[in-house]
Amino acid sequence: MRLSAYFLPLLKENPSEAQIVSHRLMLRAGMIRQSAAGIYTWLPLGWRVLQKVTQIVREEQDRAGAIELLMPTLQPAELWRESGRYDVYGKEMLRIRDRHDRDMLYGPTNEELITDIFRNGIKSYRDLPKNLYHIQWKFRDEVRPRFGVMRGREFLMKDAYSFDIDKAAAVASYFRMFAAYMKTFKRMGLTPIPVRADTGPIGGDLSHEFHVQADTGESGLFYDADVVNLDESNIDPTSPDVQAYIANWYAATDEKHDKAEFEARVPPERRREARGIEVGQVFYFGTKYSQPMNAVVAGPDGTPVAVEMGSYGIGVSRLLGAIIEACHDDKGIVWPESVAPFKVGLINLRVSDAGCTKACDDLYARLTQAGIEVLYDDRDQSVGAKFAAMDLIGLPYQFVIGPRGLANKLVEVRTRKTGESKEMPFDAAFNFITGGS
Ligand code: ATP
Ligand code: MG
Repeated sequence: MRLSAYFLPLLKENPSEAQIVSHRLMLRAGMIRQSAAGIYTWLPLGWRVLQKVTQIVREEQDRAGAIELLMPTLQPAELWRESGRYDVYGKEMLRIRDRHDRDMLYGPTNEELITDIFRNGIKSYRDLPKNLYHIQWKFRDEVRPRFGVMRGREFLMKDAYSFDIDKAAAVASYFRMFAAYMKTFKRMGLTPIPVRADTGPIGGDLSHEFHVQADTGESGLFYDADVVNLDESNIDPTSPDVQAYIANWYAATDEKHDKAEFEARVPPERRREARGIEVGQVFYFGTKYSQPMNAVVAGPDGTPVAVEMGSYGIGVSRLLGAIIEACHDDKGIVWPESVAPFKVGLINLRVSDAGCTKACDDLYARLTQAGIEVLYDDRDQSVGAKFAAMDLIGLPYQFVIGPRGLANKLVEVRTRKTGESKEMPFDAAFNFITGGS
C-alpha cells in the first residue's frame, strides 16, 4: 500500500479524551474514530488489525473443533422471555421496537438464539457433541463506556456455545476451549492469566476469565506464578486430573479473592498481585438454557435429555487495546508480527531523487509480489515526520532508503521492537524479510 494513496489520519497531539495509552495510540495512529460514546468507526489501519486478530481467533476455534456460523445482531425478545432473562438483564440491553410493535433487542450475548437454532436442528444424542460459534458485533449499553475499544458499547465478540449429552462431556468441551484460549492469546504475543471467575448474568457453576496484565486493567488479580507457565498443549481436556488441577489452582480476580486461601496454598515466592484486562471468559452452565427452552435430544435409550451447555467469549475488539497496552514504547505501538497491519514500512527518504524513488518502487513491487504486506511511505515529507509516523504505527520492520545508502547499494533495515538497525544489500534485506536465503 502506498501511503500517498492510503487513508491514515494521524494525530500529532495527544487527544485529551483518552486516559490510557492504548486509547491514545489508537486515536493518534489513525486506527479508530469515535462516532458516539462507546461506538467507533474502524479506520483502515485499525480494521486491518481487527481482521488479523479475528483470523487468529477463528483458526484456533476451528482447530478446537468449533464450527462457525453467523447469527444476526438483532434478536426477537420472545426468545429471552422463554429463558427468563428479558426482564432481569437490565439497562445494559438495548431494547428496540419495530414498526409492527414487536419487541426486539440488539444482542449483548447469544445463548438464547443459539439454543433456538440448536433445538430446531438437532434431535439425537448421536449428533453430539457440537460447538457452534460466531464472530459478531454486540451491544451493551454500558453506564460508563471508556478507554476506547476496551469498554465500548458496540464491540466485536467471538462467542461459542457447546452442546453435550452429559456433564462429563460438557466439562471436556469446556477444557478444550480453555486450551484453545491459551493458544489464541499466546499467538497474539500475550501472556494470558486464567483466573477462576464469577458467572454473572450468564449463570452456571464453572467459569474462568482470561486476563492480560496491564497497570490500567480494571480487575485486580491474585495468582500463583505457576499459572502463567501452563503449557496448553499438555491439557488433555478429558483428563479428570487436568480438570481438577486447573479448577483448583489459585488464580482469582478481586471479587473471588480469598486472602487466607491464597496464603495457605501459594508459597510467598510464587504469590503475584497485578492488574488485568479481561480478554475472554468461559462458562459451563449445564441446562440453564436448555431446560427452560426445551433444547432436548433423544438419549441412547430414547428418553429426552436436556443438553448440557457452555459458552465461551473472547473480546475481539478489546484485544486490540490489550495488545497495545502490552506492546508499546514512548514512540508508539510495537505490534507483534502476528497481528501487525503491515509487516514492513518502506521509507523513501528523498522522493525528489529519481534513484531513491526507483529503488523504492522496485523493492516495493518485489516485496509485494512475494506476498509481504508493505506500507510504502512515498510522501514528500520531512524525514523526521516519516520516522515518527512509522514508529507511531509500530510496523515490525522498517526499510529505509536514502541517497547515502543507495550510493553503496544498501538499504537500512530497522527492527521496531529492539531498535536495532543494520545496513544490508537489497537481496539480503529481501531474503531477511521473506525468510529466503
Ligand atoms: P466485563 O466484566 O469486562 O464487563 P463481561 O464479563 O461482562 O465483561 P463477557 O460476558 O464475559 O463480558 O463477554 C466476553 C468478553 O467480551 C469479555 O471477556 C470481554 O473481553 C469482552 N467484553 C465484554 N464487555 C465488553 C465491552 N463493553 N467492550 C469491549 N469488550 C467487552
Ligand atoms: Mg466476563
